[in-house]
Amino acid sequence: MQVSTAPASSLPSPNRIEPPVRRPLKMYAFDPMLGRAPFSTLTVEVANEPLRPGPSGARLRVVDYDGGSQCFYEPVDLDDPAVLMQGGLEPTESDPRFHQQMVYAVASKVLENFDRALGRRITFAGGRPLILFPHAFRGPNAFYDPEARAIRFGYFAADRSSPGANLPGQNVFTCLSHDVIAHEMTHAIVDRLRHHFLEPSNRDVLAFHEGFSDIVSIFQHFTFRGVLRDTIATTRGDLRSQTPLVELASQFGHATGAGKALRSALDEGGEPDPRLYETVLEPHERGSILVAAVFDAFFTSYQVRIADLLRIATGGTGTLPEGDLHPDLVNRIAAEAAAAAQSILNMCIRAFEYLPPVDITYGDYLRALVTADYDLVADSGLAQRRAMIEAFRLRGIYPKDVVSLAEDSLLWPRPEQPLEPLPERVVGAILHRQTQTFRRRHPGLETFGEGEETVRQEASRKFEAAASEDDPRREGAKAFHAWALRNHVALGLDPDETVAAEGFHSTFRVAPDGQLQVELVAQFSQADDTSKDEFGGIPARGGTTVIAAADGSVRFVIAKPLPSRVLSSEQARFAAARLADQREYLDVWDRDDAFLPWGDERYERTRMSRRDFRALHMTIPR
Ligand SMILES: [Zn+2]
Repeated sequence: MQVSTAPASSLPSPNRIEPPVRRPLKMYAFDPMLGRAPFSTLTVEVANEPLRPGPSGARLRVVDYDGGSQCFYEPVDLDDPAVLMQGGLEPTESDPRFHQQMVYAVASKVLENFDRALGRRITFAGGRPLILFPHAFRGPNAFYDPEARAIRFGYFAADRSSPGANLPGQNVFTCLSHDVIAHEMTHAIVDRLRHHFLEPSNRDVLAFHEGFSDIVSIFQHFTFRGVLRDTIATTRGDLRSQTPLVELASQFGHATGAGKALRSALDEGGEPDPRLYETVLEPHERGSILVAAVFDAFFTSYQVRIADLLRIATGGTGTLPEGDLHPDLVNRIAAEAAAAAQSILNMCIRAFEYLPPVDITYGDYLRALVTADYDLVADSGLAQRRAMIEAFRLRGIYPKDVVSLAEDSLLWPRPEQPLEPLPERVVGAILHRQTQTFRRRHPGLETFGEGEETVRQEASRKFEAAASEDDPRREGAKAFHAWALRNHVALGLDPDETVAAEGFHSTFRVAPDGQLQVELVAQFSQADDTSKDEFGGIPARGGTTVIAAADGSVRFVIAKPLPSRVLSSEQARFAAARLADQREYLDVWDRDDAFLPWGDERYERTRMSRRDFRALHMTIPR
């Protein structure tokens, strides 16, 4: 007898069973300390990809070398049928294989949030995966290491006298904290998108790195549906109450003896205080001002979204009666809260495309938030943008070079001078590349080849070098460079300095009206290396982000020019003011640094150490 997989010859022969697009994995919602509360372990779904033990995938590779004990732990095989059948290992502090799974799950979620908001797939330099070391060293710290393109998580013994809900002296693993993982992962992605944001050229740059990383961590909490519903039920919908939902790294804060979570999304002191933006310099604390502003905008738009539900539930009064909320109402409010949080998070990430390549300020970020959102959802996003502008204003944050805080004066300006469209050859190459990416992504399990060279890397090479070689693959780069030079005046680039391309890519998004929006984003930068000594080891840098439509016509030029002979008088004033700010900022740091008078070498090292996240995080012993 013949065996056939088809029941009868009239039926089509069965196709291969497609692997599922998503992979369920279990994790702690926050961390093991809060894991003892209800709803605080959960199952997340991440994109399914073939994984080797580690887990080791296309973009993330977990390597479990314990630097404290100098040994390797057995890597988890998430494709093992025994693991697959239970939807990932159960959360536990005692099995390193669960630690590896949790690091992978949270890091994957962060990547997905960026992929979704940016309309393209984030890859790391060289197409190589980011390395995650869950037990890298002993110590209450975790940091992103830009040189090694790795994140190193530490572990430590909880404080013996004031450990919070931890046991005195118990081991606390930063790799089991959702917030620590998401925060460090965001550092790595921000560094990928804007490498020069590690250079503290003004007081907002490092604070932006920190604040933005906290924003991503905290807004991911709102995808924990069980926790969200529980919080809404217990706070009667007041998401501004001090709950784990709005706190960052609770176990870490308590275990280090601080008696509270590491940071929170709420304003220090409960109310916005514009003086803080003038006076606070420490990057994490200054970052918290940005977090509070964004969270405030979220809370306003959440309230607008649930106003009708409250009216329906209260017969029009909007005032909730005493007692427990109806579970149906809790569910509906939770759905609105989750949608509002995702919308704000998308807005915050999408703004990246509209940021200058160098020297970011909070004011730039506000302009980028408004322009990016306006560009995609001009009408429907109005309330959300207004909430954002108002939240920034209340905290004393405004761009320096705008006449008012009206939406249309915050939008980045259209190019003042006529620009040639981007060369067809470059546009074609970029779009072709993106279609290839789409093709390879289908049906969800075919991954990028290892070491694939991305468009960005190709473009990142110094054009000077490219122009000197005959390699046909560099034709596009040459054309691009020539375009930048021909249009240097409109781009604010100094023709006497080397022009480096920081990146060039396309983004694909679907606007609410169903239209596909395709944009090309390019970044150029320039450095005045002779200024290094003057600025404590960091050169004065200029840079320009160009946003073009799919036909190559330039829509926005977001420039931070270096002083040069081609600038208009207004641009020249702007450039000089920027360098004056950088000089002033250096002085402020120097006043803080008691070791400074001990010589030039120390001077340089002190300045450069601000770029080191390990050192930066160690300055916050709480
Ligand atoms: Zn950080």
